[in-house]
Amino acid sequence: MRVYISVDMEGIAGVNASKPTERGHDAYPRSAALMTGEANAAIEGAFDAGAEEVVVNDSHGRMYNLPPEDLDGRARLVQGIKAWSMVEAAAIGQFDVALFVGYHTRAGHPRGTLAHTYTGGPTLTTLAGRPTGEYGINALYLGALGVPVGMVAGDDALAEEVAGWLPWAERVVVKRAISWQAAEAPHPARARELVREGAQRAVENARDGALEPLRLDPPIEVGIDFRHGGQADLAGLIPGFRREGDRGVRYTAAEGVEAYRAFVSAVRMATLAEE
Ligand SMILES: [Zn+2]
Repeated sequence: MRVYISVDMEGIAGVNASKPTERGHDAYPRSAALMTGEANAAIEGAFDAGAEEVVVNDSHGRMYNLPPEDLDGRARLVQGIKAWSMVEAAAIGQFDVALFVGYHTRAGHPRGTLAHTYTGGPTLTTLAGRPTGEYGINALYLGALGVPVGMVAGDDALAEEVAGWLPWAERVVVKRAISWQAAEAPHPARARELVREGAQRAVENARDGALEPLRLDPPIEVGIDFRHGGQADLAGLIPGFRREGDRGVRYTAAEGVEAYRAFVSAVRMATLAEE
């Protein structure tokens, strides 16, 4: 089994507010250490289930958070400023299953801790008219490659969201969302144990053929509403995009890879409105 692990930071147990997720904040090194702990737990679970190969994609912020020397030596690490962002290198590995660690609820979620979708720009992101987050957009891309998502770890609000999108995936709850910048979490050692067990089950489920790649009926409509109209105006310049509503854009994709490319292009383009 070949296992792909995408690791974000906002859904890690013990990371409960936005400032500690930002490089330069005095609590950031601790957040990176907590992120590394859950990444290692997922790697361990994958190898416990008999994985032959594990690739970890550092998927938060500038995407070089995990100290390479602290990561389980059996895994390979993808880091840096990557065009394919949270799913970089997934297309070149012939992976059997993907695991999402440290994930969080979609932009605009009423309760999920540190809810957002890719940047702080979107207030709502949809696929085929259904609200979704990074887990859904990334799973759609991976699904187009034939790779199923076997585990999603984060807060309890994320687990509720994911149930509707990836019902076959292990939903590992490492903390209880209280609000935008508040959560209740067990000790990191307990959270890591939950992630390790979930990863092991996910790889076993993949081997048993119990997982499905996420696929949506084409054409797939991608929807993004932004915080202000200037962001939507810039995203709406991209060929194929339509400006819609007060602060939104829409794009109609023929399949999942195109939908992912459109989504990432639009959120990145929108950041230029802040300069
Ligand atoms: Zn994220």
